[in-house]
Parts: sequence; structure tokens; C-alpha cells
Amino acid sequence: MSDTAGFLLIFSGPSGSGKDTVLQEILKRDDKTVVSISMTTREPRPNEVDGRDYYFVTKEEFEKHIENDEMLEWAKYDENYYGTPKAPVMKWIDEGKTVVLEIEVQGADKIRQKYPDVRSMFLMPPSIHVLEERLRARHTNTEEDIQRRLEAAKGEISRANDYDYIIVNNRLEDAVEDAIEIIFRHRRHIRENDSIDEFYYGHQYKDEVEYVNEVARVLPPVEDFSERGLK
Ligand code: 5GP
Repeated sequence: MSDTAGFLLIFSGPSGSGKDTVLQEILKRDDKTVVSISMTTREPRPNEVDGRDYYFVTKEEFEKHIENDEMLEWAKYDENYYGTPKAPVMKWIDEGKTVVLEIEVQGADKIRQKYPDVRSMFLMPPSIHVLEERLRARHTNTEEDIQRRLEAAKGEISRANDYDYIIVNNRLEDAVEDAIEIIFRHRRHIRENDSIDEFYYGHQYKDEVEYVNEVARVLPPVEDFSERGLK
């Protein structure tokens, strides 16, 4: 038995928003958080390792897993299948872990339908321009890939408001702190059953990010919590 109840945490954000980097930092700092390793039919990038970054499988293998009901959710994104294998996630939840699902918006919809208690965070790049630069800096995508991913990113950003929390990834350290604060607070909420209704915050304000004006929530800064008696 564990002293914390496990829970699922969706972590979305367009390709190039910096999700992997933020997540690696979270894992280093919190040993109760684990990340689900997804299965995909896309080709591995040069620096990716099978079983660490993804389980890389064929289309036929993926479809077999769907048929056998072994996926918690799956989606088609950018012409490939992506999905979350069910068994390890269920085991971690039983062990009291915070299980992060790094998935895109359609997968997030499916998880919300199945598990209404799930929490979700959306990582927002500071601007579309920065996102494009980050995609280009990878040197692993063709121009056509980059354009397709930018289009997909715009579609994903327009869904950001469906998430419990929006974190703008302007400065890595701020984004990591925001994410960890969300995890700790939700853990405490489950343990002590305290209220987190007012729990929207962040290092960034929507005014600074013109293209997300209509989707981002106004987030009070973290420092304000102690004053408001929420800490
Ligand atoms: P990438 O090809 O850049 O690694 O991932 C493309 C998109 O697929 C990202 O938004 C990523 O979060 C999402 N993704 C990765 N694994 C899964 C998964 O298991 N399920 C779903 N629905 N999306 C995933």
C-alpha cells in the first residue's frame, strides 16, 4: 500500500513546445511521478531508443493491440498511430504513482471520457514563431513535416482551454516549477481532500502571449498563494 493515491495526469502541448524537456526535469525532482511509455508506428528519430522514448511497432502490431483491448487510448496523429499501453499505467496507479500521459488532444478527450477525475495540463509555446524555430532546430524534420506539424500545433492550441492548467513555456525553470506545483497540490488534494477550485496560477499572464489571449486563463502568480491562505 502507498500513502498517496495514484492519479492520471495528461500532459499535452504541440510538438516542439518542450514537453519532453519539462517532463524529464519533473521526473528528476519527484520520484512519485512516472511517465507512461507510448507505442507508435512512426519512425524513430536518430536519438530515440525503443522502450525508452516509445515502443516502436508496425501498423499491424499496433492494430493487434487495439483489437486485444490492450490500449488505454490511442489516436492517429500526423499519419501515424500513437497510444498508451494499459497494463503499466494501471499497475502504477495501484502503487500510488502520479502517472503522466504525454499525449495529444484526441487521446486526452478519450481519457477524460473514461476517467473524469483525470487532471490535465497543456504546455504552450511562447509564440508560433518560437515553436517553428524549435521544430527547425531539431534538424530531423523535412520542410513538409515542419509545415504539417505547425498546422497540427495551431489546431492543438485552439483546444488548450479544455485543459485544467495552461503553462506557458517561456522559461524552462518556470514551466517546470508550475508543473511540479500542480502535481504536489493535486496529490495533497487527494490525500487531504482539500479544495483546489481556486488553483489556477503560473508564471505567465495571458496578456504577454497575444495568440493565446482567447484560450489562456488568467493565472495569479505562485507567490500570491501564501497571502491568500492557499499554501
Ligand atoms: P512526436 O511524433 O512528436 O513524438 O509526437 C506527436 C504527438 O503525439 C505529440 O503531441 C505527443 O504528445 C503525442 N503522443 C505521444 N504518445 C501518445 C499516445 O500514447 N497517445 C496519444 N494520443 N498521443 C500521443
